[in-house]
Amino acid sequence: VEFEQYHDASGAIVIPDRTTLVDFVESNVSAARRDPAADGLIYRYIDYSSSRQGEVAELSWSDFGDRLYAIAARLQQVAERGDRVAILAPQGLDYIVSFFAAIHAGLTAVPLFDPDEPGHHDRLHAVLGDCTPSVILTSTESAAGVRKLFRDLPARERPRTVAVDAIPAELGSGWTRPELGADDIAYLQYTSGSTRVPAGVEITHRNVVTNVMQLFDGLGLTRASRGVTWLPLFHDMGLLTVILPAMGGATITVMSPRAFVQRPGRWVTQLGAMSDGDGVFAAAPNFAFEHAARRGLPREGESLDLSGVTSIINGSEPVTPASMRAFNEAFAPYGLAPTAIKPSYGMAEATLFVSSPRKDDEAIVIHVDREDLNKGVMTVLDPDRVEGNEDAIPQVACGYVAPSQWAVIVEPGVDETTGEHDGRGRELPEGRVGEIWLYGTNVGRAYWGRPDESEATFGNMLSERLPEHSRTVREFGTVPEDARWLRTGDFGAYVDGQLYITGRVKDLVIVAGRNHYPQDLENTAQDASASLRPGFVAAFSVPANQLPIDARNGAVIPTDDSSETLVVVGERAPGAGKADPGPIADAVRSAISARHGVTAQDVILVPAGSIPRTSSGKIARRACKTAYVDGTLRGGHQQTAFPDEPA
Ligand code: ATP
Ligand code: MG
Repeated sequence: VEFEQYHDASGAIVIPDRTTLVDFVESNVSAARRDPAADGLIYRYIDYSSSRQGEVAELSWSDFGDRLYAIAARLQQVAERGDRVAILAPQGLDYIVSFFAAIHAGLTAVPLFDPDEPGHHDRLHAVLGDCTPSVILTSTESAAGVRKLFRDLPARERPRTVAVDAIPAELGSGWTRPELGADDIAYLQYTSGSTRVPAGVEITHRNVVTNVMQLFDGLGLTRASRGVTWLPLFHDMGLLTVILPAMGGATITVMSPRAFVQRPGRWVTQLGAMSDGDGVFAAAPNFAFEHAARRGLPREGESLDLSGVTSIINGSEPVTPASMRAFNEAFAPYGLAPTAIKPSYGMAEATLFVSSPRKDDEAIVIHVDREDLNKGVMTVLDPDRVEGNEDAIPQVACGYVAPSQWAVIVEPGVDETTGEHDGRGRELPEGRVGEIWLYGTNVGRAYWGRPDESEATFGNMLSERLPEHSRTVREFGTVPEDARWLRTGDFGAYVDGQLYITGRVKDLVIVAGRNHYPQDLENTAQDASASLRPGFVAAFSVPANQLPIDARNGAVIPTDDSSETLVVVGERAPGAGKADPGPIADAVRSAISARHGVTAQDVILVPAGSIPRTSSGKIARRACKTAYVDGTLRGGHQQTAFPDEPA
């Protein structure tokens, strides 16, 4: 076990009250400063924006320390305890050192976007207005873009902008160690905004230090592991990949999301190149595996050895067997182990990491019956009843919940007078679908500035536990009876001790009293017509009285008829820009009706780019519904706002 002294005899992670992230980073930096032989590489950034081969910039541990303490010292001159320090810089080393500097100054870091990235402005303003930073850390190159963001504010309300690459290393001697404890806030992690305006989760030092240890334990990482990442650093999964090395001593190669999307082979090449350590780790959302399989193979004559890759987390979005299969088939000839892909579950409220298969386990795919699944029961089908069976839904296991973390499947209680959730819930047995609730010292304590939402999300109690509670929930110590649980907003189930995620509570489509998972309907739609862009279809329900006139098929709908109807929106596939929508909609409608027994009230085609997505690329079905109802979706308007954004 890495970090052995922070584990008790049962394997539980125990962080002393005075221990913080600063202690871990500082001890790594000072070890490197004491012993030049131990002063290895920590971060490498490859910039492909101006050269095809990429320009490499590197930080050794002592470089990292020099830059980090200098920026932290500068921050200590200009900011006060409790202040928020937002990072608005392009992907790169400046971004990483800025994040750690804010924390080392004893302030609250807020990792945000590149101010020059087009299409992020609405989100950026929403989040900046929420966390009201007193200082912005950026690079000289991006400082103008940052100032532009605040030009409409009166001068005294504008945050101070600091270009971190202009700070001389000598300033570092002025750094003083902040008075911090494990339960002080280290940073705000904004959620992706798939279902709402992003909320800032307060992540304490205890939360992040625990979650890094859980990742090490869960994936079997060591100080000699090597990482490769292109994930956006403002996203929880991207951020944790760069916190891992600073705390645990591994080395990581970083590139930008765009570098990956343009040429996924860059990521694959680096996965193969980092074989000098004790195994390579990475993380990516599901689409990336298919993208890499399709466009990331080495060219003729190029060598590639992926036998050192031990774990690539597939997380942050539903995991599909097709994407895993494509990646495995493409790269097995280059030595990729069948155990490499790790379907994993996580979220900002839990710092990041909740569950994944263990190091030596292959991903498990089961098939369940659709009808039963929609009623909340996981009926596992015999493998020989799956082929050609349209009612067999594949489900990918997200493995075991990490040590010192607990997940239960719950039926939330309802208050009889208000009809709202009453903050309590009853545990459900294996095989039943319910809401996933979490408990552990990696779970954040609240959303920044949202007391009511925080209480409803983070403050729930289990009114009933099952006798098998301790079997389904791996025990590392026990959860106190009066524990406060996190409602994740996700449906899931346990089967054979493995955790499965079935879909988001808020996105469930309920028509005529029957449940349908939107991703299931979307799959059927895109199977029915090649004119729909795969992965860019959204299914959601709309109350009949909110349907636009042209979706009512001439029917007169009473204004008080708020019964839910199904709407499917699909982006046009490349080459289908001018295709006649009539026959496509008919094909989709009849496939959905045959397979799901539900009528799609409206099926529309929109230009590519119209379906709202988050800054990390997740589909935002509720925002799509809002745009559908208010008419902006049909116009092919590019969506950037959030569903519940105040006007
Ligand atoms: P918001 O909470 O603002 O609406 P978000 O939930 O997408 O956005 P994140 O915290 O970044 O914000 O993402 C966590 C969510 O991503 C999970 O709650 C779950 O819905 C989804 N998710 C993560 N991993 C998986 C997975 N392996 N399978 C299915 N869904 C997943
Ligand atoms: Mg969420």
